[in-house]
Amino acid sequence: MIIVLRQDITPKQKDDIKTLLKTNGLIVREIKGKEDTVLGAVGVNRMDPRQIELMDGVASVVPISKPYKLASRELKKEDTIVTVGGVKIGGNRVVMMAGPCAVESERQIMEIASLVREAGAVILRGGAFKPRTSPYSFQGLGEEGLKYLRKAGDEFGMPVTTEVVSPRDVAMMADYIDMFQIGARNMQNFELLKEVGKTGMPVLLKRGLAATIEEWLMAAEYLMANGTDQVVLCERGIRTYEKATRNTLDCSAVPVVQKLTHLPVIGDPSHATGMRDLVAPMGLALVAAGASGLIVEVHNHPDKALSDGPQSLLPEQFEKLVRDVQALCPVVGKSLESVPRIIPANMKDESAQADTASSGGDLVVAFQGERGAFSELAVRRVFDEDVKVMPCKTFHDSFEALNKGLVKYAVLPIENTLGGTIVDNIDLLTRYPNITIVGEVQVRIIHNLIVNPGTRMEDIRKVYSHPQGLAQCRGFLERELPQAEAIPFFDTAGAVSYVKQTGDRSIAAIAGSPAAVYNDMEVLRQGIETNPRNYTRFFVLSREENADVFRSSNTPDRVAVSFTVSDKPGALFDALEVLKRYGLNMKKLESRPIAGKPWEYFFFAELELHSQEDLEKALEELRDQTSSLAVLGEYRSAH
Ligand code: PEP
Ligand code: MN
Repeated sequence: MIIVLRQDITPKQKDDIKTLLKTNGLIVREIKGKEDTVLGAVGVNRMDPRQIELMDGVASVVPISKPYKLASRELKKEDTIVTVGGVKIGGNRVVMMAGPCAVESERQIMEIASLVREAGAVILRGGAFKPRTSPYSFQGLGEEGLKYLRKAGDEFGMPVTTEVVSPRDVAMMADYIDMFQIGARNMQNFELLKEVGKTGMPVLLKRGLAATIEEWLMAAEYLMANGTDQVVLCERGIRTYEKATRNTLDCSAVPVVQKLTHLPVIGDPSHATGMRDLVAPMGLALVAAGASGLIVEVHNHPDKALSDGPQSLLPEQFEKLVRDVQALCPVVGKSLESVPRIIPANMKDESAQADTASSGGDLVVAFQGERGAFSELAVRRVFDEDVKVMPCKTFHDSFEALNKGLVKYAVLPIENTLGGTIVDNIDLLTRYPNITIVGEVQVRIIHNLIVNPGTRMEDIRKVYSHPQGLAQCRGFLERELPQAEAIPFFDTAGAVSYVKQTGDRSIAAIAGSPAAVYNDMEVLRQGIETNPRNYTRFFVLSREENADVFRSSNTPDRVAVSFTVSDKPGALFDALEVLKRYGLNMKKLESRPIAGKPWEYFFFAELELHSQEDLEKALEELRDQTSSLAVLGEYRSAH
């Protein structure tokens, strides 16, 4: 049952409730949600719920209808984020895990770890105990394999996961690894689940070969009832009558499971298909279906692999898959996880003052707009979900907050695929020489019709939003709300808080879903934009002195420059010729008027960056071909 606690409950009252539940043999878990704190009490219940309902500090008692309790969405509405080593799984992230099916030797795992890390994997996999169909097949290196796996993970900065097949190995393995893997064949090995659950460590729980979704979630319940709340589910194909593939990938399990449980679910396209050429398309399908990540088998010599060679990707194929997944991420409203999104301790900002900051770590990031704006979404894609934010009224205010050291970073929009360049931010970048671009993030703009709860379509008379929001949803407004007047507002999230303040059920706002969540409002219609290919690109900015910390974990592949050229024929051509000679492919070029110099312009350009050495040389020559030149920052591109 779920015991919803009153907001004014005292610690003593809470303890009394917990004690009573525990003395009645129930397992108790406290879950803090955005609004309420609840206690989940599971086990063989002989208590009358009314006895608990009458206790001080209890708001209500609700039964959980599903057989799995701790794993169910009924108990916990918010997504669980599982932390493995420094890597988080769940929420708005896509996490790539890769490595060989089995650890075969120290050299093999070191080589593959290096290659998959380079390609974008953030967690390393590799079996040391292999549950093989034949007793004569390679069974894995055992503890020796774990040592090599740990060494490779440490060397290349990746947490490691490996399969556990026996309860007697659990304690020994816990010293070497960051996440246990329960294989498909052992999904219902309940003694194993109990032992692993007791460690409290993260567990990757594969779906059994012939398991229903409910059985799979019951296996997760075993782990959770025994002590871990860190479970990641993994769809890896089930056995059907179809023989063309090794298993049949049940892609629909991903969205189904997400409705039923708060636990993250990832996909394993390698074991699902059994064939190398099917891994990438099915991996993309899993991400498109909403998977929080993929676990993929990769081998540098798959023809010599001791197990699962035919389904192992070559490192370069994995690298291509990572790039494709990254391109897909904004479509599903997620970001590809690159280590470390978690900001190292030395980046934490103890002194920062963010009076409107949300709860979370000490790092503070500025954005422009109100709480729940698309810009805030961008901040949380780059940093952690619970990073502190400082909403600023204007772009200029955000630059000032950075400049004064009130925040370590700011995330500001630079370009929208429908609306074009946000020129104010380009101009501001040139005016603050100590502020530099360190990163980039792309957010898909999905508009929603947001209303006070209970509002009906036919009652709506006015719709508020930023003029771009209104323009981008014109088709919907004409079709579905012909009676409503479109009223421009200064920003989308601000329109939502305005509608909320009035409490009026004849008005609505158009904004992103975070604005509805933040303001506790209802989304009446989702995805109402006319053109779904609507993305905004944001720059992550910092002061020069903080730039390297960010760049060290996000190796730059772009550079942005601004320059002016003399007023003579071919001057721009001469400057661009230098770029051509050094192979600096130009991704964007924009001209902007120079403030205070009528009819004079500067250029803003973004260039692909392959080699620092070539860049230095090119900049040196470019200096001769331009009247002024500034590097505005180096960053890792998001597309
Ligand atoms: C594996 O990941 O190597 C493995 C054996 O997977 P599964 O348990 O899904 O077959
Ligand atoms: Mn395998």
